Amino acid sequence: LSDKLDKALHVLKGHGSITEVNVAETLKEVRRALLDADVNFKIAKSFTTKVKEKALGQNVLTTLQPGQLMVKIVKDELTELMGGDAEGINLSGDPSVILMSGLQGSGKTTFSGKLANYLKNKKTKRPLLVACDVYRPAAIDQLHVVGDQIGVEVFSDRGNNDPVAIAKAGIAHAKANGFNVVIIDTAGRLAVDEAMMTEISNIHKATQPQETLFVVDSMTGQDAVNTAKAFNDVLNFDGVILTKLDGDTRGGAAISIKSVVNKPIKFIGTGEKMEAIDVFYPSRMADRILGMGDVVSLVERAQEQFDEVEARKLQKKIAKNQFGFDDFLKQIQQIKKMGNMKDLVGMIPGAGKMMKDIDIDDDAFKGIEAIIHSMTPKERSNPSIINASRKKRVAKGSGTTVQEVNQLLKQFDQMSKMMIMMQGGGGKKMMQLMKN
Ligand code: GDP
Ligand code: MG
Repeated sequence: LSDKLDKALHVLKGHGSITEVNVAETLKEVRRALLDADVNFKIAKSFTTKVKEKALGQNVLTTLQPGQLMVKIVKDELTELMGGDAEGINLSGDPSVILMSGLQGSGKTTFSGKLANYLKNKKTKRPLLVACDVYRPAAIDQLHVVGDQIGVEVFSDRGNNDPVAIAKAGIAHAKANGFNVVIIDTAGRLAVDEAMMTEISNIHKATQPQETLFVVDSMTGQDAVNTAKAFNDVLNFDGVILTKLDGDTRGGAAISIKSVVNKPIKFIGTGEKMEAIDVFYPSRMADRILGMGDVVSLVERAQEQFDEVEARKLQKKIAKNQFGFDDFLKQIQQIKKMGNMKDLVGMIPGAGKMMKDIDIDDDAFKGIEAIIHSMTPKERSNPSIINASRKKRVAKGSGTTVQEVNQLLKQFDQMSKMMIMMQGGGGKKMMQLMKN
């Protein structure tokens, strides 16, 4: 997925602004990437349409590749689509009843344990697990194993095959014994059917839970949407638990489910262990789906640091071929302000891989700055006057060698020519030139 988006955003590179033409190509790829992540076709389509509207109105700062700006827009939209801030669980009841629903194998029993453990660790909560999967004796055993592991009591009734009665008895047991949270684990089936829906609906009516959670395996992709819809139609559940987000996961389910049932995703499961539970953060999920590392923070930092007025001035100078070492120095300072060089390069999509073997020194600019500082103002604005004796003086003053001075002058000359061609592209390009 990451590679695909890298490619998609590559299309935008070298273009000075986001235009109808270059955005279309990119969005086609973004859409394809979303479909690959199992996002529903209609949702992927409406998503890219929305992104396009936003993107076309954007003013592209010169330090930013339009592609990077696009990543930010795409990410922001994805985050919004998956819901705003993380939403907690309603624990207002006494006891608070939490009902698990979902297909067999989705991870209900495991998550029941994880949530009990999570709440227990909050100290003020004393959870009770209730075993309402009456169809397989092994299911009751499984919940007991989980309960033992985390030191949480499990209420079960092996002779009883009425889950509604067990759920009610469990709540009564909690009330009588000072438990303030009741987590009801239920039976699922391999696919949605009438009997399962009737049963979960009956348990729901009888227990009046503060929180009804729909547990779904994130690997199930497109099917997850239909299942979520079926359960929501019957239960009008409060939140979604996305399990098995460890391993080779398709985060796309998160987007689809959220947009179809419009219920928040509250927790994610990231492994079989009881500790493998995390609060759901839409922006982290967007990162994961985009597989883009920290491009977004690079874009944000650049936006903060870059002075657009300065950029316009520079562009004019370049156009008139008046770009001198003073301007160069300013550019270096601009780049340095944005942070650690290695970090910055690492944030550029695709560059992380490419640049792995190249050592980028944070001090890379030190020698260059020293040399420029040793030049007279005249020399800085008109480097062509720097003859052999001036070179010697500059080298001496900056503690470098004539060779190094020559190298910088050569690079600067090449760069100036390039700058004219690209009309004031960003720091990244300049860096690349300096490396060559
Ligand atoms: P239930 O039928 O809905 O109760 O599902 P279970 O809780 O029994 O889980 C089914 C299988 O998925 C079990 O083997 C669990 O260990 C596994 N499982 C549950 N949640 C996760 C998760 O977040 N990550 C991984 N890797 N496995 C999980
Ligand atoms: Mg189970």
